[in-house]
Order: sequence, then structure tokens, then C-alpha cells
Amino acid sequence: MVKIGILNLQGAVSEHYDITKKAIENMGIDADVESVRYADEVAECDGIIISGGESTVIGKIIERRGIDEVIKENNMPVFGTCAGMILLGKKTDFDQPLLGIMDITVGRNSYGRQKDSFESPISIFGEEFPGVFIRAPILEEYDKTKDDITVLSEFDSEIIAIQQGHNIAMSFHPELTDDTRIHEYFIKEVLKCVE
Ligand code: GLN
Repeated sequence: MVKIGILNLQGAVSEHYDITKKAIENMGIDADVESVRYADEVAECDGIIISGGESTVIGKIIERRGIDEVIKENNMPVFGTCAGMILLGKKTDFDQPLLGIMDITVGRNSYGRQKDSFESPISIFGEEFPGVFIRAPILEEYDKTKDDITVLSEFDSEIIAIQQGHNIAMSFHPELTDDTRIHEYFIKEVLKCVE
């Protein structure tokens, strides 16, 4: 059975847990979702979701607990939202531990402060989706020489969702909506890897 792990270190973890459970129900597949906190628990999963929160805090714990090594050794699909997007990247504008498994550079808090958080409809997979942006990062650049990178969504001329291989990064928060389509998309990517 496929297992999706929600990395439970800090941030909007329970929202990802709930919506992933709902996505699995909607898909009618034999899959499980578990909240994971340590490297050995992460190693048991087929795909990992990293929530929004504080990327500095999440990154330090990931490094301290050796979770980064487990993800890299197992070439595990990772879906990161907001702080999760920052952690997936190779570079940001701050000196902090990153997973660095996507060839992207991400600017933190690029839409301004907490008070500048906003909601707006966005378009992804050719469909409209509710976009929730909370102190959202901006994708500053990605390695255009890599042919496994696909831009999934843009908003106001900025890239807000991008995929490289089986890893997906988004600057907004699909877990704060009750729309499961994006989580279903990630689960399908994980299924492709275990087939
Ligand atoms: N600004 C946060 C960071 O840099 C991310 C914000 C979020 O995840 N909502 O970690």
C-alpha cells in the first residue's frame, strides 16, 4: 500500500494530513497517510509532503534528524508548499539549511509581510483553483537547461508552481482549501514511482 508522509515538524501539518486523506478517499485507492517526525518514519513512506510554516525551523530539524539524507538516498517524491517550496530549492536569500533537490532559487517573503497575505483564484492544469498566499515566497529562477522541469502555474507574471521530476513546489497553500485536486495530482506522481 502506498504511504504518503506528512512531515510533522512545524507549520500547517494537520491541514495537509486532512486534505491528503480526503484526496485518497476521492481517488478510491489503497493508500495511507501518516504524520512523520523522524528519519526512520520518513524512510517508510513513498512520498513526503512538507507544509508551510517557518522554513528556517523546519530545515534545521530536517538536517539535525537526517531526514534530508533519507529523502535523497531513496529519491523520494516531495511536494512542498510555501516554506516547503523554499526547502525544496537549492538557494534562497538567507543562509539556512535546504533540501536542495530542485534546481530552483526561491525568494522568501517576497509578497511582503503577514498583512500582505492574500487570496486569489489561480489557474493550474488548465483549471481554476483557489490560491491562498501567506507570506509567500517567489520563485526567482530555475535552471532552464534541465528538461525535467515543468512550470505548472503562473500568477501576476510570477511562477507559483513548478515540478522537477517527481518533486513539486508551490508558493501557495492548497491545504488551506477543501479542494483536493492538487493533492490528488501529487499522489498520482507518487503512484507512478512505485509502479
Ligand atoms: N515566510 C515563510 C518562510 O520563509 C514561509 C511562509 C509560509 O510557509 N506560509 O519560511
